[in-house]
Amino acid sequence: MSIQDRVTNGVRGLQPYQPGKPVEELERELGISGIIKLASNENPKGASPLVAGALKTALSDLARYPDGSGFSLKSKLARFLGIRPNQITLGNGSNDVLEIITRCFAGPGQGVVISEHAFAVYYLAAKSVDAHIAIAPARQYGHDLKAMREAIGSDTKLVFIANPNNPTGTHLTSAQLLAFLEDIPKDTLVVLDEAYVEYAADLDHEDGLTFLDRFPNLIVTRTFSKAYGIAALRVGYAVASEDVTDILNRVRQPFNVNALALVAAEAALEDQHFVAQSVLENKNGLERLIVACTEMGIESIPSAANFICVRVGPHAQKVYDAMLRMGVIVRPVANYGLPEHLRITIGTPQENERLIETLRSALLECRVN
Ligand SMILES: *Cc1c(COP(=O)(O)O)cnc(C)c1O
Repeated sequence: MSIQDRVTNGVRGLQPYQPGKPVEELERELGISGIIKLASNENPKGASPLVAGALKTALSDLARYPDGSGFSLKSKLARFLGIRPNQITLGNGSNDVLEIITRCFAGPGQGVVISEHAFAVYYLAAKSVDAHIAIAPARQYGHDLKAMREAIGSDTKLVFIANPNNPTGTHLTSAQLLAFLEDIPKDTLVVLDEAYVEYAADLDHEDGLTFLDRFPNLIVTRTFSKAYGIAALRVGYAVASEDVTDILNRVRQPFNVNALALVAAEAALEDQHFVAQSVLENKNGLERLIVACTEMGIESIPSAANFICVRVGPHAQKVYDAMLRMGVIVRPVANYGLPEHLRITIGTPQENERLIETLRSALLECRVN
């Protein structure tokens, strides 16, 4: 039997996650500099200056293992969120947490429900444990909770909901979520991924944490990779009932969040002014891009996040390639079932202007050819 035959059923069908193209890679390929990347929904402002200060101090103690329980960060988070520390599971990015949850609650042949056009990691995590994946059709590019409810069967263990969703930017209201939680079986776990919750705060969006007391089957995940601007360091977390948290922590690797990441996240959490400023600048940038797209005659999906999904047409891959040659990296989303769209992260005001000019030129080029 070959090594290829030994691979488990779930892993056999997997394709690696496709991240946004790194700036360094495009630099190498094209031999140009001044490239901008608006492809991974990172914070264009970087992180709070408090983060660099905290990291500098922590650099003097790299020989020691981190605090495996993350006591200090969890205490701060609990206070900030109005929950108890033993409701928190820390992760090496929220991707880590999503995988831990899947391993704890879904196994071969068991049901996992996700939406069409949803964040790719849910599928990858579920597939890797050989779960049976039901994909509910989207409605106007967003999660259709009615269709997701219908996709839940007697074997369904887990449901993933991203709010706002990536790559579409679509958003569900609190009322919709609440109705869904009330309607589904009490023993079906719901993962509510709130990676972009900070950006949606002024919409009709009561955050998922407020539902936790009423729904012990709910797990809310958050990240420091987006509005907090420390994607490089990989910190995310889940908030759930104490019982669920106890289960998740059995599977979590002892030191899954490194020492630099722990102190950086604490510092980032302290600077809520930075987060608020990031959210405000994002809103302005998003509006600017929407206006520009309308001028160019391009539809965009209404976004509640720090990116926008725009419909450039059947030649989307060509437009993407043309933009790359002009030094602007965005994200094709054909692998999300959106072959005519590109996903663009909101940048700084200067980056947004460059993006708009580049998109305009790329569209012209692709329409001429
Ligand atoms: C970016 C993102 C995450 C966060 O990933 P990290 O591992 O925390 O960096 C989670 N969910 C969605 C929907 C995302 O877009």
